[in-house]
Amino acid sequence: MTHCSAESEMEKSPWICHVCDFKSADTESQACDLCFRVTCELHLRPASVYNRDNGLYETARVCIVCGSSKS
Ligand SMILES: [Zn+2]
Ligand SMILES: [Zn+2]
Repeated sequence: MTHCSAESEMEKSPWICHVCDFKSADTESQACDLCFRVTCELHLRPASVYNRDNGLYETARVCIVCGSSKS
């Protein structure tokens, strides 16, 4: 009888930054709070985002694409 033990290991899924196409499988992926796309550390910045629900500005992590297109 053979049994497979591969599934019991915690796997980190590889991700690609949507800004620079940087790929990593060793670190945890992070996503932009506005567009929810995976972004690397370099292209993710803390920013104040207006929350329409409570009328307050909240700190979010925003990619440079969203950060550079402020309305
Ligand atoms: Zn990047
Ligand atoms: Zn974004």
